[in-house]
Amino acid sequence: MARQFFVGGNFKMNPASRKDKVALVKLLNEAELDPATEVVVSPPALYLIPVKESIRKDIKVAAQNCYLKDSGAFTGEISPAQLVDSEIPYVILGHSERRTLFHETSDFIAQKTRAALDKGLSIILCIGETLKEREAGETAQVCEEQLKPVVALLKESDWSKIVIAYEPVWAIGTGKVATPQQAQEAHKDIRTYLSKTISSNVAESTRIIYGGSVNAGNCKELSTLPDVDGFLVGGASLKPEFVQIVNSKK
Ligand code: PEP
Repeated sequence: MARQFFVGGNFKMNPASRKDKVALVKLLNEAELDPATEVVVSPPALYLIPVKESIRKDIKVAAQNCYLKDSGAFTGEISPAQLVDSEIPYVILGHSERRTLFHETSDFIAQKTRAALDKGLSIILCIGETLKEREAGETAQVCEEQLKPVVALLKESDWSKIVIAYEPVWAIGTGKVATPQQAQEAHKDIRTYLSKTISSNVAESTRIIYGGSVNAGNCKELSTLPDVDGFLVGGASLKPEFVQIVNSKK
């Protein structure tokens, strides 16, 4: 089954002003984007609704995180129900910055994935190893351990709403991109794990995208790899080169 190429822009806690946010949306609204690629941008929570309302309709919007419950005394959190009510279709879960800076565990991320799916959201689920883990030869094992609690909580049919973002922590925001060989190997191992633990159908149809210092210079080669179905882009999603990354397959 052909997997649609997917490019996500994770703005993180950027841009720093509404003026810059408006300029970024204008840039994307005026760009020529490959219609064959699914494009999703993920602004900070404060900008989700203004971006959704001002961006072209062929670009979807994602939250960068959400909590488990529909509503209640959870200061600072956003619920999956609120995202759905605000017509935000995607949420990023398990980003390495959430795992390391905010101490989110794989079990907690799996529970949030379950809660978000139950409300009807699609998920960009991030996994990936640290440099120490890669150097110890533990990349596949770490990815499996991060996926395991998610696999345990999801039904086979849920996987059509999951995009897995393989993001080696050592490549995020460092300018150090995985080599095509490293990316292909990790993506293939993740697909094999899905096949072993769920089904060959889910393994074949689930998009596995790469994230970590993707830019206009390296996106073309990475986009040709058989198991790389797109990108999650941080720093470069705030720049005009994001358009070239979206158009990597063109
Ligand atoms: C990210 O934050 O998901 C990411 C991949 O960042 P960058 O592209 O800046 O490495």
